Amino acid sequence: LLTARGLRKSFGDNEVLRGIDLTLHRGEVVVLIGPSGSGKTTVLRALNGLETPDSGTIVVAGGPDIDFAPTDAVAPRVRARQRLALRDRSAMVFQHHNLFPHLTVLENVIEGPWRVQRRPKAEAIADARALLARVGLADKEDAHPHQLSGGQQQRVGIVRALALRPDLLLFDEPTSALDPELVGEVLLVIKELADEGWSMVVVTHELSFAREAADRVLFMDAGAVVESGTPAEIFGAPQHERTQRFLARLL
Ligand code: ATP
Repeated sequence: LLTARGLRKSFGDNEVLRGIDLTLHRGEVVVLIGPSGSGKTTVLRALNGLETPDSGTIVVAGGPDIDFAPTDAVAPRVRARQRLALRDRSAMVFQHHNLFPHLTVLENVIEGPWRVQRRPKAEAIADARALLARVGLADKEDAHPHQLSGGQQQRVGIVRALALRPDLLLFDEPTSALDPELVGEVLLVIKELADEGWSMVVVTHELSFAREAADRVLFMDAGAVVESGTPAEIFGAPQHERTQRFLARLL
């Protein structure tokens, strides 16, 4: 479904991605783990077109090869087209739900499909209601975000991503801003989506989720994928000393 090759990105002197390769097959769940600052979020943002790598290639099935080059070498129009090509294929769930505070839950969910994708409003509403019901929020469609718990807000954030009907879902530490007792309900929704066959890349510090839900785990450190494998391989028998050290601190 998605192939990224040799992604590199620097912010000034700070080389944040040092040649990232990543493949995601349809229906697969890839979990990115690694220390703070290792570049996990930047990888997701690159896959979503929010960040433009300095070099490397991303291909999403059925789309063109998107080859990146330093800013001054690429016309702004070309960069904008590259960003759009990626943004149309994936939807991102952020650490903070980023819901519009002045809109109701239903209005938040239909904003993308109706106003941005220009789908008929009635269709967007029907879709949104079905999705809200699926995550147990059917009775909250007229609520405003501040009337919901953090876990409910994040479930709305997930529904908003699903409503875009993306090919793949990107989760950026979707539970790290939540109170501990609310983490479970959000991870459960993500796990259910994984079981339904959604393709997703998840950045998380929740290793038990990675162990249960991931098809593949990638351990990143200092802008590179140090090691990747099944959860059993990464958690049961990590090969690289840096992976071992990271896991020893957390387990
Ligand atoms: P965390 O778990 O803390 O979110 P991470 O692995 O997701 O960490 P990134 O957020 O990708 O790491 O950040 C990697 C590095 O890139 C950090 O040193 C960060 O300060 C830097 N960085 C990220 N975005 C920018 C930006 N827009 N401008 C400058 N530096 C940035």
